[in-house]
Amino acid sequence: MSIVEPGSTIGIVGGGQLGRMLAIAAAQLGYRCHVYAPDEAPPAAEVSALFTRGDYDDEAALTRFGASVAVATYEFENIAAQPLDALAAEAPLYPPRRALEIAQDRLAEKEFVASLGGRPAPFAPVSSREELHAALAHTGVPAILKTRRFGYDGKGQARIHSAEQAESAWDSMRGAPSILEGFIRFDAEFSILLCRSLTGETVLWDAPRNRHLDGILDTSEAPPPPELAPAIAEARALAEKVADALDYVGVLTLEFFAGPDGAVFNEMAPRVHNSGHWTIEGALSSQFENHIRAICGLPLGATELVVPRVRMKNLIGEDVTSWRDIMADKTAHVHLYGKGEARPGRKMGHVTWLER
Ligand code: AMP
Repeated sequence: MSIVEPGSTIGIVGGGQLGRMLAIAAAQLGYRCHVYAPDEAPPAAEVSALFTRGDYDDEAALTRFGASVAVATYEFENIAAQPLDALAAEAPLYPPRRALEIAQDRLAEKEFVASLGGRPAPFAPVSSREELHAALAHTGVPAILKTRRFGYDGKGQARIHSAEQAESAWDSMRGAPSILEGFIRFDAEFSILLCRSLTGETVLWDAPRNRHLDGILDTSEAPPPPELAPAIAEARALAEKVADALDYVGVLTLEFFAGPDGAVFNEMAPRVHNSGHWTIEGALSSQFENHIRAICGLPLGATELVVPRVRMKNLIGEDVTSWRDIMADKTAHVHLYGKGEARPGRKMGHVTWLER
């Protein structure tokens, strides 16, 4: 097993706020970061030693980038896996490619998790109007039609409340291969945040209870309410199985609905996750620090809460314009991502409160 020593350069593919917080954690451990992203001035590049502007499918540029780093990771999953082989030929790339390929396809991830004993909502692949009607007969209404790839924060989704809405829902997918999911009536949503090291050591944080607004994460709270304990125990066991099956390295996130029958799997992300931002101040080691430790072959840090309760709230779009009021709250840990324009639905920052 190769250890990447402090002082080395870590490559991060993707330049958003997740990359920014990874780079800050890496800096604390004595590493330098090199960010690769197509944008002009991405949030992660502002806090990193090096930045290469390049397209995600530019294999020559990814090869040069790979040659400049000791180890590499990625901070979002909506990138084609194949061009990353050029990077992986030059430097170890974690999490493993198979995790990326499974997680970026809603159909593949549900089939994979179901093969390990997980329970997703009823689902069926849809690639034509006719298939949608057949799928609706399987799931019933209400249901949600989602693109298999490239959806995030509720984008690429259409809710179907009655059979008449099927036509417009299919039109809104613009022909993209999709998946229909039965609508789950859940009591709560939560996520499992896990980190697995190069030697297979696995740590988990308290599972945050998540609340969404318009398909976008609004708040995460830890610890979860006691009534979620059985569903969370089931979900943790599943997440560990998923991580072992993929020989995973780094932070892995699985999102679930908690209902009367236990944990229903929603989706997985092969990366640090918005529902784990509270770990920066609220846990002994953050998701970002442990991800860096894992990909560098270091032992993982402890994950216990440092206070009885932690709460994180996202600052979405215009929310960020009230930063003066937010900072006037002396107990608020404020994180702003340095993004210019506060477009609706854009994640601009977050705030964490520790409750003693
Ligand atoms: P997703 O991008 O798939 O995580 O969807 C965003 C949010 O939409 C979820 O966190 C849920 O709040 C809601 N949602 C997605 N799929 C379903 C479903 N099958 N049943 C009920 N709510 C859902």
